[in-house]
Amino acid sequence: MPELPEVETIRRQLAPHLEGRRLERLEILDPRWCEPAEPAALEDAVRGRRIERVGRRGKYLLLELEDEVHLAMHLRMTGTLLLVHEDERPHLRARFVLEGGKRLLFCDVRRFGTGGVLLGSDARDAYFDARLGPEPLDPDFTAGALRALARGRRAPVKAFLLTQERIAGVGNIYADEALWRARIHPLRPVGTLRVPQLAALRDAVVEALQAGIDAKGASIDDFRHADGARGSFQDRFLAYDREGEPCPRCGRPIKKLRVAGRGTYFCSYCQRAPRRPLVAAR
Ligand SMILES: [Zn+2]
Repeated sequence: MPELPEVETIRRQLAPHLEGRRLERLEILDPRWCEPAEPAALEDAVRGRRIERVGRRGKYLLLELEDEVHLAMHLRMTGTLLLVHEDERPHLRARFVLEGGKRLLFCDVRRFGTGGVLLGSDARDAYFDARLGPEPLDPDFTAGALRALARGRRAPVKAFLLTQERIAGVGNIYADEALWRARIHPLRPVGTLRVPQLAALRDAVVEALQAGIDAKGASIDDFRHADGARGSFQDRFLAYDREGEPCPRCGRPIKKLRVAGRGTYFCSYCQRAPRRPLVAAR
């Protein structure tokens, strides 16, 4: 699933092509894409409006149109956004017809991806504030802010990192990469982390996400850039998806267990286990 660095990569690719351009119309081919809203309601709300800004919040991509009409999209498992000159691609769910002839195509094999319109900046902010914690790349995501989020919580730190209401945009790949960088075991209850560990974790989350952005995201399954190219972060993983391969720090084999239902990769030497794991290792 695309995480913050993958969505940010798409945002940066689309922005110069979309910002300032008029959206002639949106054509929703799959009503499930915008459920429970009616496709016609969305199409009417955005028709003919200029795209002022391409934004991102967590894993959501945001088209900010004139008159404070905001279109929020989530790629979920297999959604892709392609900027092309053609009208058709396999698994097409929604087609944005742009002034000047280009098309932005939302394609999605598994159909979990979504689109929705938020009218007004207050509605936009309320929508995201109800679903998402702070943006980890914002300056106010400090060690102190992370400490406040973690205080008193007994969830394993890996599950905590995956919870979008706590921190926006981190998913399975970047959680494992951050915990490896911070030398913290994924099952460690987040509320028991010491102040220096939380400071290390804050830095590690930022560094892992930045490394992902620098590599233009990870293409391990369906993720593609807006021009169809692949990211390269999958070639730079430190821990994620490296079971049995040597830890880049100590050389011992990376291990795998399940946390919060997700395959989790870590080094059992560099990331020491808590005394009483909440979930048994597999
Ligand atoms: Zn190690």
